[in-house]
Amino acid sequence: MSIIHGIEVDEAGRCCHYHQANDIVGLKCAQCQQYFACYKCHDTLRDHRFVPCAKHAAPAICGVCKFTMDFQKYVQGFCPNCQHSFNPKCRVHYGIYFK
Ligand SMILES: [Zn+2]
Ligand SMILES: [Zn+2]
Ligand SMILES: [Zn+2]
Repeated sequence: MSIIHGIEVDEAGRCCHYHQANDIVGLKCAQCQQYFACYKCHDTLRDHRFVPCAKHAAPAICGVCKFTMDFQKYVQGFCPNCQHSFNPKCRVHYGIYFK
């Protein structure tokens, strides 16, 4: 069972909204303290909107190896543990995920 929640989420954290090869990051909601494949999944599955997570509070998790990252590690663009790269287009949603 994956610790990344979402709709039709696969073993690497891809969901029905974002499912390219590099869509492998889970993002943590500061309110429910769980990782989600994306904010759309979160907002559908929970009764509140996604609450951005503090940058130092492990807001991101690698869907491949489940390594948790602070924002500084996540923005490198790849997992520091397994080296899989992340989708750079997630950048446009930083305001939703991080504060
Ligand atoms: Zn939440
Ligand atoms: Zn989703
Ligand atoms: Zn990894």
